Amino acid sequence: MIPYGRQSINQDDIDSVVEVLRSDWLTQGPMVPRFEQAVAAYVGAEHAVGVNSATSALHIACLALDLGPGDWLWTSPNSFVASSNVGLYCGAQVDFVDIDPRTYNMSVECLTEKLEQARAVNKLPKVVIPVHYAGQSCDMVMINKLAKQYDFRVIEDGSHAIGGQYRNELVGNCQYSDITVFSFHPVKIITTGEGGMALTNNADLLEKMIRHRSHGVTSKKEHMQPRSADEIWNYQQIDLGYNYRMTDIGAALGLSQLGRLDEFIKRRHEIAQHYDQLLSSLPISLPQQHSDVWSSYHLYPIRVNKNQCGKTQRQVYDNLLRNGIGINLHYIPIHRQPYYEKMGFSAGYCKEAELLFKEVISIPIYASLTNEKQNQVIDELKKVLA
Ligand SMILES: *Cc1c(COP(=O)(O)O)cnc(C)c1O
Repeated sequence: MIPYGRQSINQDDIDSVVEVLRSDWLTQGPMVPRFEQAVAAYVGAEHAVGVNSATSALHIACLALDLGPGDWLWTSPNSFVASSNVGLYCGAQVDFVDIDPRTYNMSVECLTEKLEQARAVNKLPKVVIPVHYAGQSCDMVMINKLAKQYDFRVIEDGSHAIGGQYRNELVGNCQYSDITVFSFHPVKIITTGEGGMALTNNADLLEKMIRHRSHGVTSKKEHMQPRSADEIWNYQQIDLGYNYRMTDIGAALGLSQLGRLDEFIKRRHEIAQHYDQLLSSLPISLPQQHSDVWSSYHLYPIRVNKNQCGKTQRQVYDNLLRNGIGINLHYIPIHRQPYYEKMGFSAGYCKEAELLFKEVISIPIYASLTNEKQNQVIDELKKVLA
């Protein structure tokens, strides 16, 4: 089976992990800060907080922005459930902004319209999480403009997008947002096993995220309350935090993978270009790229429309699976999940995201996909669509 995505691990990656296993530190040793500094330097952000998943990174990002009961978090329905679950973890209410039918990212037109309506009833969001779907950055200039106009904070969910660019600068530099989050799950661009990171240029948000990563505990004198000098207060808990720490094992793998990131992105572009060329004659829609964006190509989502190609998404999907092509679907709209429908959401709420769900198929793209295997994918697609 050719999967839709997978990690690429070489001998250097393995050696760096083994080296940590032989060292004094397995968790939160010297590798985590080294990896944090390397990612921050790579993307051009000032600070980074490494954690055990992108979900944890989104959660501590929301906590650092003081998202809580009575607040609203808005995100894209075309994402993994984590993008909105983190709002619920904080006790906030969540809502969804429909997508642009060309980029499949949060639509700025829909966002603008929804903000106008929300202002009229005094329910403006405190935090908006645009998701850089498939590795293509959202329209961050416009979102940043709206953030100033309507006074909300922005967390970029860049889980797909490390190594991608927006207006010739790397995603993650937080020029248009408060915080950007990356995922290092094995199916994403680079991996630490499980892992994630939150980037920011704001020192205050950094401090808060560091505390929330580790139980809300601090050992910094300036943050502690004064206590009797004959008691040994070498740390104090001042917030309710979590254990979201990254391990040194993961960080060593991440650091080694970061050194290969440019090569990974280059290979993903080659694969995407090859698909663009060889699939262009088929009666399906290929992913469109906005001219402001250099995608990291986490995904290559094609669209199968029955009227256009005579086959249903289900027929193409099942046929490819039967023939050893491990395709996937991104995404079931979050608001259509049973848990969210129980909260009152229903079909028809975000029409473009729902239409995409009924047509989209993610075909294999990853750095170690060989030309031979890619041609197999193309052949199977041509057969089923013939
Ligand atoms: C993978 C993913 C996440 C969650 O990442 P984890 O590291 O698995 O927690 C969040 N948002 C999006 C868009 C993702 O693709």
